[in-house]
Formats: sequence, structure tokens, C-alpha cells
Amino acid sequence: MNRKRSNALYRRALELIPGGVNSPVRAFKAIGTPPVFIERAKGSKLWDVDGNEYIDYVGSWGPMIMGHAHPRVLSALRKTAPKGTSFGAPTPLEVELANEIRKAFPSMELVRMVSSGTEAVMSAIRVARGYTGRNKILKFEGCYHGHGDSLLVKAGSGATTFGIPDSLGVPEELARHTLTAPYNDLERVRFLVDQYPEQIACIIVEPIAGNMGVVLPEKGFLEGLRKVCDEKGILLLFDEVITGFRVAYGGAQELYAIKADLTCLGKIIGGGLPVGAYGGREEIMEKVAPLGGVYQAGTLSGNPMAMAAGIATLQYLKTQKVYKDLEKKTAYFVEKIEEITEERRIPISINFATGMLTLFFTEGPVRDYTTAKMSNTKRFAQFFIEMLEQGVYLPPSQYEAWFFSLAHTQKDLDQTLEACDKALGKI
Ligand SMILES: *Cc1c(COP(=O)(O)O)cnc(C)c1O
Repeated sequence: MNRKRSNALYRRALELIPGGVNSPVRAFKAIGTPPVFIERAKGSKLWDVDGNEYIDYVGSWGPMIMGHAHPRVLSALRKTAPKGTSFGAPTPLEVELANEIRKAFPSMELVRMVSSGTEAVMSAIRVARGYTGRNKILKFEGCYHGHGDSLLVKAGSGATTFGIPDSLGVPEELARHTLTAPYNDLERVRFLVDQYPEQIACIIVEPIAGNMGVVLPEKGFLEGLRKVCDEKGILLLFDEVITGFRVAYGGAQELYAIKADLTCLGKIIGGGLPVGAYGGREEIMEKVAPLGGVYQAGTLSGNPMAMAAGIATLQYLKTQKVYKDLEKKTAYFVEKIEEITEERRIPISINFATGMLTLFFTEGPVRDYTTAKMSNTKRFAQFFIEMLEQGVYLPPSQYEAWFFSLAHTQKDLDQTLEACDKALGKI
């Protein structure tokens, strides 16, 4: 494929923007090729600035569950924009979206809108600390919760209990309050909880992990977290920024029938515009200003354009048989790709939930960050490049989820499978 204009733009971007991108994973750093600059998108397709067409499985990292430029979303935006795009005052749209969210997530009795998933998680952690009067939080290795200071931490080694920051600029004094455990490791959680009695404000978890590639909670894991939290006065915080309105309308907590104390949303609820939300039990959320002493604010929070796109998206998801459709597509794809990799005798492990999957280049099973890291990332990079050349745009990292949308057609899936077969034959 010719990417002359993309490459020229990238060179110019490098002079203006750190690394040429406004979010690191867009840089294709793990692949070692320049990123593709996108001009437009429609349904399941992307077109780059050189006119190349791709079937898209990034979906803006999750939000585009209806496909790109969906007429309903565009129409909502067209209706909203002429009335003004921000007032810094309450609007009916915020109430409507909060109502839709609460109907889907009954555990979110009060909902606060923010402008990104990162902001939602940062705020929810502050609320958890403010409510419990405790400083420590417990997270899982390989789970991503946005780039807030307390969350950019993983364990240095299996034995480390104190958090070590993953990023420069995060004070150790703060990172120290973040404990980490391997995903699916309840025993480790119990150990840490006993080690720090009455010091842990919340356990934060992606109830289906998407940011080390897809990793499912094993039977009893989420239930076990719920139990530990109840016993020890710890809040259970579900980060459903990806899974909310994706794996089911009511997210992973509907799927697994577990009530979180606090929930964070983002991505899909903005229909492709910048949004996040956090919410939970009334007595907890009543700590948020102006009701309570936990301060959190936002000039553009509840922005009318984002609310309108979100409402249009949720209303569509609610009325269509969308999750059955997504489930069918995902299952079909998994079945076929398993046939292909078996035939080619390529060691691969596939984890999936409705509308999301990861093809790990390792024998598996992948059940946590350590087993995910056993993947052959060189092989993934080769595979990615081959797929891109055949017009399939995958997430440019082994440790990300491919997202299916309602706009993907049977033809898209079959074309993608054919491309996979060819790509796997070459690597
Ligand atoms: C994307 C993501 C976030 C951060 O959301 P942003 O809108 O990128 O700030 C937080 N948690 C999870 C699970 C995510 O996937």
C-alpha cells in the first residue's frame, strides 16, 4: 500500500506533537512502522489520507460499537450543535443520559459525568478514599484504569507489595498506596487485605480485562472480591469503561450478576465523543461536591454534544437485538480462526467476550498478565503488518482487544478471516 501522505504527515506531526501522536499506542511503537493517518470512517471501514481502505477492529478503542458515523448519532449531533455546544450550566440531556445509565446499571444510584475514562477513575478513587477515610487501593497487574497517578502502577515482581510507579513523574509516596495482585489471584488479594487491615479504600478491577488483551475472570474471582470487600469494609470498584454497554447492556456486572459499590464508564457512553462517568451507591456518591466534601468538577462535564451522541447510542443499543448479534459475530470469528490456526499449527490462545477478543501468540491459557506476557510479540508485529497490508486495521499491540461493531458484515468477517489465513501463512 502507498502511504506517502500518511508518512509525510507523520514527519510533520513529529515536529509538533510528542511522538507525533496524542495517545501513545497510536504510534505503532510496538510494531515499528509509522502510524496510518485517518481521513474518514463509515460503518466498519476506515480510509486513510492516501485513500487506502481498511476494515476496522479498533473502533476508536471501543466506543464505535454502532460503527463509524452512524446516521442516528450524526443526526443527534446535528440537532444539538445549533443550540450551542457548551453552557457551563445544567441541561436536560445530562439528566436523560444519567437516567439511561442508571436503568442499565442499577448499582449506579447517582451518576456524575466527566470528560474521559481517566477522569472517571481518578474521581471514583478519590470518592472511595473520601468515603472510607483510607488511603490504599488495590489493583490488578495488567489492568489499565487511565493515566491517573495512583493507577500507573504494577508490581515489580510477584513478591512486591508496595507499588512502583510505571511512569516518571509519579511520586513514590503516592504509588506506595497502590497495592497490586495478579488478575484472578484471590489468594493474593486475601493476603494483601490481611496485611493492610483497614487501610484499603477500594479494590479496582476490570471485571473483564481488556488492557492486557482480553482476560476473563475465572469462576468465583469477582464473587470472591465482592465477599472480601463486604467482610473488610472495602469498596468494590468496577472499571467498566470498556465492558459497559459492550459485553451486555448492563456491562459485566449484569453478566456476572455482581453489584459494584462504584462503577466507572466511558468509551461507548459518549458515542465517539469525549466522555466518562462514575457512580455508585447513594450514600457513597453523596460525598461528592456540592453534597459532600470530595471535590470534583469539570468545565465541559455533561457537554451537550457528548450527551447527545451518548443518548443516541444507548437508545439504539437498547432497542435492537444487538448483543445477540455481537455475540454471534464474535463466536463465528473465534470458531473460524481456531480452525485456521489449528490447520497451520500455530500456537495461539484466543480469549473473548461479546464484541471483543484477543488472539495471543502463545499456547496459553492466558489468565493473567504473566501468562499474557508469554506471547510472541515479534510474531504479532509481523502478523499486524501483514493484516494492515491486506486492509485490516487491528490494534497495534498484542496486549489490546479487537472490537467488533454492529456494522461489521458477514463479508467483512470472511474477508478478515481470509486475510488472517494468508498473514498466518507468511509469518
Ligand atoms: C480506556 C480506558 C480507561 C481510560 O479512558 P480514557 O477515556 O482513555 O481516559 C480507563 N479504564 C479502562 C478499562 C479503559 O479501557
